Amino acid sequence: MYKAPRGTSDILPQEQGYWRYIEEKASSLCQLYGYERIDTPAFEDARLFIRTIGPGTDIVEKETYTFEDRGGNPITLRPEGTAPICRAYIEHGMHNQPQPVRLYYFASIFRYERPQKGRFRQHQQFGFEALGSSDPTLDAEVIDMSWQLFASLGMGHLSLLLNSIGCKLCRPNYLERLKEYYSQHIPRLCPDCKQRLKRNPLRLLDCKKPSCHDIAESAPRSVDHLCPECKEHFENVIRHLSLLGIPFEKSHRLVRGLDYYTRTVFELQPRGEEGAQTALGGGGRYDDLIEELGGRPTPAIGFAAGMDRIVLNMKQQGISPYPPETFRVFVAYLGEKAKAESVKLTAELRRAGIAAISSFGDRSLKAQLRHANALGVPHTIIIGEDEVGSGTVILRDMTKGEQKPFKRGEIVHVLESMKL
Ligand code: AMP
Repeated sequence: MYKAPRGTSDILPQEQGYWRYIEEKASSLCQLYGYERIDTPAFEDARLFIRTIGPGTDIVEKETYTFEDRGGNPITLRPEGTAPICRAYIEHGMHNQPQPVRLYYFASIFRYERPQKGRFRQHQQFGFEALGSSDPTLDAEVIDMSWQLFASLGMGHLSLLLNSIGCKLCRPNYLERLKEYYSQHIPRLCPDCKQRLKRNPLRLLDCKKPSCHDIAESAPRSVDHLCPECKEHFENVIRHLSLLGIPFEKSHRLVRGLDYYTRTVFELQPRGEEGAQTALGGGGRYDDLIEELGGRPTPAIGFAAGMDRIVLNMKQQGISPYPPETFRVFVAYLGEKAKAESVKLTAELRRAGIAAISSFGDRSLKAQLRHANALGVPHTIIIGEDEVGSGTVILRDMTKGEQKPFKRGEIVHVLESMKL
């Protein structure tokens, strides 16, 4: 028996309401803030991600789905949404548009991770990016927007964590301080952190192992090593967030998983549940990324939320999406002539905007009503030979079990007015 590949899942019809709900709330939020939708391919040239995410990161080293296509081209299934958007920004000359360019997306993301609750090999992200300005008000806008996303979904009990990890000028000095500090604690570090110390020291700070936690808590803080420009930028982000009334907590251990971040980084987590599996969304500035990809210097900031985790969290918090459209009509028939009539009537109903399902085959009325019941349909139309002869139909209220005849020519109109 085939099964969905490990770390993937089917989103069955009964689950779809959650997804449509999030998509609708997210799209209208973007519309309110002046963001326009963009869709990029599900796969890109592998080098785009190695270059941008960083050769030493977990994502590039262990998690990408990378292969050669039949033409020998290196391909990677999209492991995140930002790099493809930067590629598109450059490719389509978006620097000629009024800056910042505000874009949003829904995208399937592929990462070869160890599957567990809230961590899958294919997941869906909703994200937005503002490209072309380093103004701290834009940081505040993007952070505000991510906060409003969860507010509009009715989700509470969230913490917004905020940090600044500096720029390419001040970060090298900070990394030196960090390495000096961690070098004194090598014997107590977990094996992963021993590697991180050599290859990606910033990630030492967000190790989830309890033994490394205490060491990270007392580590030098990036905010204490910012250059004057980054310091002022961070202070302004904080000032604007306070102005907007967004409740945030500074977290000096927040660094994010990708190499390209500069200055502001932030994450939204369910309150009291710190950890990599629980972040509902996160983002930050990436002021050098577009230039590194061959574009003009273009500071930018973005955010992405994991939709699968939002669905899990909505369920935990007892938040229901919109109820599905329930007004549907089942059309049952008895005999050949009535069958032809039912096909015609079903089409008429659909054209009038009423969801209708026609029966099939050659079954008893009892079997057809059982079918209608199993579908949860509130109304069934019954057409038999007599009804065809007299130009009528029978309308059955499935909840009450009551039946009433109507003229064939009037039934569509009757149902239309019942739907209102
Ligand atoms: P990231 O680009 O890793 O910051 O991911 C952005 C958001 O996507 C995270 O905050 C999670 O909500 C979600 N996410 C990341 N990786 C996974 C995964 N493997 N499975 C499910 N959701 C994920």
